[in-house]
Amino acid sequence: MTELGRLHHITAIADDPARNLTFYRDVLGLRFIKRTVNFDDPGTYHLYYGDETGTPGTILTFFPYVGAQKGRHGTGQAEEIAFAIPPASLGFWIDRLGAKGIECEPPTKRFDETVLAFRDPDGLLLELVTDAGAATLPGYAAAGMPEEHAIRGFRGITLWLDDVAPTARVLTEVLGYAAGPVEGARHRFTHPGGGLASIIDLRSAAGFWRGAQGAGTIHHVAFRAADDAAQAASSRALGGLGLRVTPQQDRNYFRSTYFREPGGVLFEIATDDPGFLIDEPKDRLGEALMLPARYEKHRAEIEAVLPKLPSREAV
Ligand code: ZN
Repeated sequence: MTELGRLHHITAIADDPARNLTFYRDVLGLRFIKRTVNFDDPGTYHLYYGDETGTPGTILTFFPYVGAQKGRHGTGQAEEIAFAIPPASLGFWIDRLGAKGIECEPPTKRFDETVLAFRDPDGLLLELVTDAGAATLPGYAAAGMPEEHAIRGFRGITLWLDDVAPTARVLTEVLGYAAGPVEGARHRFTHPGGGLASIIDLRSAAGFWRGAQGAGTIHHVAFRAADDAAQAASSRALGGLGLRVTPQQDRNYFRSTYFREPGGVLFEIATDDPGFLIDEPKDRLGEALMLPARYEKHRAEIEAVLPKLPSREAV
């Protein structure tokens, strides 16, 4: 099957980049896979986290702006990011987050999974979700993070919407999802490819206030395309639904198109290739500031304005 439609990456907005790095690398144990700049605003960072090599479906990225205004959770936004953990790792995570002073909700049941909900330092809504399939996948072992308990990647994401039907159409008619079970206001959509990053939940929240973008909210959700041909086919199909898709943009590590889905969330279609090993070897990922060719001549000015990032916290 030609890959189209499972999650590729999720990008959110943060305040302090140093605090963001300390949380995702040192507390959650994700690998810091790329230290680069926002290609549309090169005086600010774009930080990437993922598994050992940044496999699509494991990649969480941030635009951190020091002093960024806080966003507001609400409709028209992607909200809860669910990470997959092995079912036997739930106790490890409750202990670990508690030891780091991170407040968690008591674990809850959702469909056949257990969900542990908490927030990142900017208020981004995160979940660790038990997934039997996760135990069969390799984890990234880091200092203080045993491989067996590591986050494996995304389980999925939840969108809060005024009306789920128009967004559901995009998922089922273009991105290949099947409508699944409904539990209360939560409508589950599952990608037949299965595995990591194959679940989108649409939460009907009619009448709830509208979200506002800012620190602690998600900027966009990117879905995988195997190659340019699959991406171009998605643009045609989306056009058929009356959605306007941007021309392709080169993001160095993937090539992207963007569109605003009918519920108001910014969606991206990102190619699987070329990936994060294009400019750094696997054992050095995330160590140096990587710039696209067009910004290399400005490296000294860019490095001068970017805040310093801490090296790994001893844990
Ligand atoms: Zn993106």
